[in-house]
Amino acid sequence: MIGRIERGGFRAYLQPNLTAIERIPIEIAKWDLEGRPVSAQFDERFFRRGISHAMMTKGKRERAGRLLGKDEKRAALERFRRLAEDARKALLEGLDRAVERRELEERFARIAAWDVLRLEEEEQRFSDVYRPVPILPPDRVLAFVVQLTEGCPWNRCSFCGLYPDRAFRAKDSGELEGHVRGAIRLFGRSILLRRSVFLGDGDPFVLSDAKLLPRIDRVLDLVREESVSGAALPSPGDLYAFARVRSLARRLPSGLGPFRARGFRRIYLGVETGDPELFRLLRKPGSLEELPDAVRALKESGIAAGLIFLVGVGGARFREAHREETARIVSSLPLDANDIVYLSPFRLVEGSAYARWAAAEGIEPPARAEIGADARLLAERIRAAGSPVKAAYYPLEHFVY
Ligand code: SF4
Repeated sequence: MIGRIERGGFRAYLQPNLTAIERIPIEIAKWDLEGRPVSAQFDERFFRRGISHAMMTKGKRERAGRLLGKDEKRAALERFRRLAEDARKALLEGLDRAVERRELEERFARIAAWDVLRLEEEEQRFSDVYRPVPILPPDRVLAFVVQLTEGCPWNRCSFCGLYPDRAFRAKDSGELEGHVRGAIRLFGRSILLRRSVFLGDGDPFVLSDAKLLPRIDRVLDLVREESVSGAALPSPGDLYAFARVRSLARRLPSGLGPFRARGFRRIYLGVETGDPELFRLLRKPGSLEELPDAVRALKESGIAAGLIFLVGVGGARFREAHREETARIVSSLPLDANDIVYLSPFRLVEGSAYARWAAAEGIEPPARAEIGADARLLAERIRAAGSPVKAAYYPLEHFVY
């Protein structure tokens, strides 16, 4: 931390990667080093703003969290602005320590430069560089995303609403360069908050090594180049991505060594269920029989696995089979304490094939409390089966990029 200043009922934390301002003891908000709001706690509600200008909130009565509409966003941003304005007056009043004063004035000036209209323009700047980023794993929410590919090469799972707006495609070298450089400009100094590189979107590993590895090398070269010219980028040796089971399983004979050598630490697989009947119903690509090969391909190359399972999917009809078969399949895999199993609460996508099936079969979406209880039970069953892997909750609703 560069400094902590407390005066007149306010406290400022001048951190190397953000500015936090507290109105003691009732509210606290954070801004990135460009001066854009990042997160806040106002009236016992938590707010987070992403680089896309999407904002979410959650509170005691809204634990699931939700995205804010335009007017609610404006109201929340007004709270950020008022807090900064009040704190500026109180903290600078009579402050005679020159270094702290200069730093504080500079940070407040950057914050004040972002009025609501300018923040709203960030939505367009974001869309000029990125397609929407609908999800990241919970341990990667602060990753720097590079959309090396767009969309999902399968895009047919019956429950999925992640990439309905785009066909799968891989960026060519020139486009990739424009994307990476554009993203770095968009983040500016706020890149200091990003801790790793996540290669999107759904499954870049569907590409052959001959197509994928040169693209990854190009991304890494660009990140290194930009770092040398002054941008404090996340380490290019800290790479993550989503993949489909089949894309990894087919690499088992040769392994994923070239990916580990380039810095891959963990790859995330959306398995959703260990129950074969439900797996088919969800129209997942490939088969559960391929999962052990996919996990072995990762583990033999020294890359950790992140396996994602849905909780509550299939409703009461599948509850027991889903839980027991999922616990069985997880405990049969060669996972260790570096791997992680995410339990993601199922969320019904209106108009999806799953929604039509559930309506026709009278399958009710489970209540939130039931989902929580199911997740705890499933985690217990995985532990009881002797698997050393960690199981953690993975709520989609909280995510904004
Ligand atoms: S593979 Fe994943 S991203 Fe693709 S359609 Fe299925 S759930 Fe969605």
